[in-house]
Amino acid sequence: SDHSLEYPASPDEIDWDTHYPAFAGSGEKPEFADVGCGFGGLLIALAPLYPDTLMLGTYHPMLLSPLCASEIRVQVSQYVQDRIAALRASSSAPPTTSTAGSLAASATAPGGYQNVSIVRANAMKFLPNYFSKHSLSALFFLFPDPHFKIRKHKARIISPTLLAEYAYVLRPGGVVYTITDVKDLAEWMKAHLSAFPLFEGVDAETLRAEGKGAILDAVWNSTEEGKKVERNKGEKWLACFRRIELPRAV
Ligand code: SAM
Repeated sequence: SDHSLEYPASPDEIDWDTHYPAFAGSGEKPEFADVGCGFGGLLIALAPLYPDTLMLGTYHPMLLSPLCASEIRVQVSQYVQDRIAALRASSSAPPTTSTAGSLAASATAPGGYQNVSIVRANAMKFLPNYFSKHSLSALFFLFPDPHFKIRKHKARIISPTLLAEYAYVLRPGGVVYTITDVKDLAEWMKAHLSAFPLFEGVDAETLRAEGKGAILDAVWNSTEEGKKVERNKGEKWLACFRRIELPRAV
């Protein structure tokens, strides 16, 4: 349950300066959200590539999943916080202009990981408490818990009700990235996102042509769950969707 968690009434109540001290006073808010960020691999891969973009991982400490059985959730969130703190401490470079897409950037870590943070939050209930309308340009659902049993499908993070919230927090033109190694879940996510009037499938080539290749590579390779699938030689299904301005006929 969510009883032990406190939630902000709205994104305006959040003190983003404590999350991103190097950006204090800038008025910047998170623009990338990794829902179910696990051990934080995606955020840590993207941080140096987009040093001027604030990123927030959300993470649910109470949920145990069959996929992440080894994760002791409360401790994981401390682990990610410590990981970010250590990276910030060991990388003192000041934030620089974005060099998105450059591999060299990842080696030298411009920005010093000042632009990443995480919150414990049940994203299925409280996402709009953290992200205001149209504030996000990227929303990530990477290897979400599959909830295999039919009666558990309502617990899936992609569902018709929740898609309305995702469309609300994403700005038109923003992208939802999904990846999973569970074929049934891949089909489920694709079916629901394709059927929602404010989302439209967008293929990887199009996104690469827009300069989002580094994001796709990170989605594919950088998360701990994704690496585990790679080690086990499992299959991965990637699907991306654009938040469009006006509802299309479906
Ligand atoms: N994305 C990570 C990766 O690829 O390594 C972690 C994947 S793990 C299978 C699923 C993650 O989703 C866990 O970190 C879990 O805490 C999180 N999660 C599950 N349900 C959630 C919810 N309702 N709100 C926020 N996070 C949730």
